[in-house]
Amino acid sequence: MQDVIVSVAQILGRPGAGRTINLSRPVEGVETVLASVAETPVEARLRADSVVEGILVSGAVEGATRLQCARCLRAFSSEVGVEVCELFADGPGQPADEDAYAVEGEVIDLAPMLRDALTLALPLRPLCREACAGLCGSCGQDLNEGPCGCVQEELDPRWAGLSALRDKLNH
Ligand SMILES: [Zn+2]
Ligand SMILES: [Zn+2]
Repeated sequence: MQDVIVSVAQILGRPGAGRTINLSRPVEGVETVLASVAETPVEARLRADSVVEGILVSGAVEGATRLQCARCLRAFSSEVGVEVCELFADGPGQPADEDAYAVEGEVIDLAPMLRDALTLALPLRPLCREACAGLCGSCGQDLNEGPCGCVQEELDPRWAGLSALRDKLNH
């Protein structure tokens, strides 16, 4: 887990003061089952603003992603972008919540915030395209490349009873 340490010494404890933070660096370990953030640098254009409670970090984070289509399993790449606005708490009476971000001395570590924000922004069900035809459930052929020849004639069991009833009524 690589830190992304930014000094806030100049603005800490001076509500109203702020600084810009522009980052371009890889963020490791951001992945879900079908998606991950690529090793290429993540771009972050942020502001750190001194507030009474600590440091408020806000702005835009963008990165390249590597995805696997949830229907046809093909690998493809895309981009992810997310707006962040997070408080890094400072001073006594520190957050009881261990997951909250905090000022450490005169620095903040942006890595956990970047990782959390990007992970939440990854698609849960990536699709190579909206109309992806997926794979045949019987033979596994990629139906984007054409029909496979399997005969799809499974009747939904929930309708089986109905059609039996209909047959009866018609006789
Ligand atoms: Zn697909
Ligand atoms: Zn098939």
